[in-house]
Amino acid sequence: MLKELIDKFYLDREKGKEREQTRFYVTDAGKCARAVFFKFKKAPRGEMEARVLRMFEHGDYIHRLILSTLFSLGLVRASEINVPTQQIISGRADAILTWENELYVLDIKSINSFLFKNLLQPKEENLDQIQLYLHFFNIQKGILLYVNKDTQELKEFVVISDRARAEKLLQDLQALKTKIDGNVIPARLADFPSNKECQFCQFREICGQASANEMSWSEFKKKLSSQRPLL
Ligand code: SF4
Repeated sequence: MLKELIDKFYLDREKGKEREQTRFYVTDAGKCARAVFFKFKKAPRGEMEARVLRMFEHGDYIHRLILSTLFSLGLVRASEINVPTQQIISGRADAILTWENELYVLDIKSINSFLFKNLLQPKEENLDQIQLYLHFFNIQKGILLYVNKDTQELKEFVVISDRARAEKLLQDLQALKTKIDGNVIPARLADFPSNKECQFCQFREICGQASANEMSWSEFKKKLSSQRPLL
């Protein structure tokens, strides 16, 4: 009874958020290019579970709790700051902190106990994201703060700005933008479908129907339309 109502609330709200994507998000950096392409093209995707949407919302609450503590400690110089407007990418850093007269970009990540226990260094995709924030805010240091959402334990990693890494990420996004504009579906990940990203990918089903290499989006849409009237 309540479960169905609550699930429906989350799923309906998620549908209401769907809109045309015209710029990359910082969270797209370092992700599978094909998955990002499909997202831009609003390709048919597996429905997100209401349970997962609730987990995302729970993660947002944890972020706010941490931020409120940092505000109380007087460390927060600004919170929820958008990256400066430019053509390619948009995103919002959790906070910029001041600690011992130095500025830090803060990115908070909530993860489960299993990942938390095995986390000896920052996840590569999180490093990609914080490098872009450091690049756009022109700040030399960042902190990746991981919260174990099951136990509320914390782990932190200081990250130093790596201009070459940020520039490479931006070049890759620019190359992907050319493919998006030219309707060329990027190649699959080489280790599809065993790659961890594929296991949680909403486009796994249609990805398996496209060829492994680059292919024309127009041709693939025709193939999909002949199977289901979605596009
Ligand atoms: S299933 Fe894997 S290769 Fe295919 S789009 Fe998703 S992440 Fe990329």
